[in-house]
Amino acid sequence: MKTTRFLALPLLALAACAPSLDIAEAPNEQASSAAPDALAENKVSAENLAKWRKDNPSWYAAVEPFQVVGEQGAGIYYVGTEGLGMFFIPTADGHIVIDGGMPDQASMVADAITKLGYDPKDIKILLNSHAHLDHSGGLADLKVMSGAQMIASEGDRSALEGGFYLGSEEEDFLFAPPVKVDRIIADGETISHGGVTMTAHLHPGHSRGCTSWSMDVVQGGKTYDVLVFCSATVAANRLVNPPQYEGIVDDYRSTFDKTRDWKPDVFLANHPGFFGMAKKREKKKAGDPLVFVDDQAFGKFITTIEGWFKDGLRKQTEVATP
Ligand code: ZN
Repeated sequence: MKTTRFLALPLLALAACAPSLDIAEAPNEQASSAAPDALAENKVSAENLAKWRKDNPSWYAAVEPFQVVGEQGAGIYYVGTEGLGMFFIPTADGHIVIDGGMPDQASMVADAITKLGYDPKDIKILLNSHAHLDHSGGLADLKVMSGAQMIASEGDRSALEGGFYLGSEEEDFLFAPPVKVDRIIADGETISHGGVTMTAHLHPGHSRGCTSWSMDVVQGGKTYDVLVFCSATVAANRLVNPPQYEGIVDDYRSTFDKTRDWKPDVFLANHPGFFGMAKKREKKKAGDPLVFVDDQAFGKFITTIEGWFKDGLRKQTEVATP
């Protein structure tokens, strides 16, 4: 390890990545274990997973899967937990999943898909917001389960295939089961599958290959553009001394420049607290079918986390320059 102080950071920092904008309900269901093969392959230890689970109970608290927006059998569904956002996009030609949650959560995602009435074996495409274990950890097992194609950016390929956190390669606490990337996606490139078109928006910073995904969804005769945002928090990343990867500070600045004016109709992200899921979901259940439509929501969020980034950079620079 390059620094000892980093050892204490991931728990706090990754947990801080999901601000408690929502009041989480108590966990009501436990995840079952993932296939032991994938875990053994990457030496993701049971002790480390137990610690993650203890320190981030919301990440393991089950949420009844639900449709965020779209007509019946189409659009986008939530298959994550109270603290980690995973998404399911059904098509007649097999399905698309964005993110796999923690290394032992593939079965939780699969169970959610089954509850929605689909077969997880019919997943054809796996996408990833970014190569950090709380979002990429379950992808290897989902791929084994379904034989789906894994599509990701070049910037995150080494971390996905190596099962490590870029710039902290020896930190076993941050390991994820390696998953082979079958196709590299570039910024602005699209994937068309089963009548659905997904567009990749690369904005490195939070990870070197951080990728937001957008798609159009129709509900009630209107089309809404949906964004699943990668993240732009500092979280566990070293910005200086030495940076997590070369150029990370410039990448964060470019991310804010690029995303500041985005106004997606529906803003979703890999931590549901980012978009206030719990409250919106309650309102949807209570009969507001378009509660997730709010083209001002992303702008407010990105302004907030740009402030966090500036604070984080200032604090890390102060520590680095006594
Ligand atoms: Zn992350």
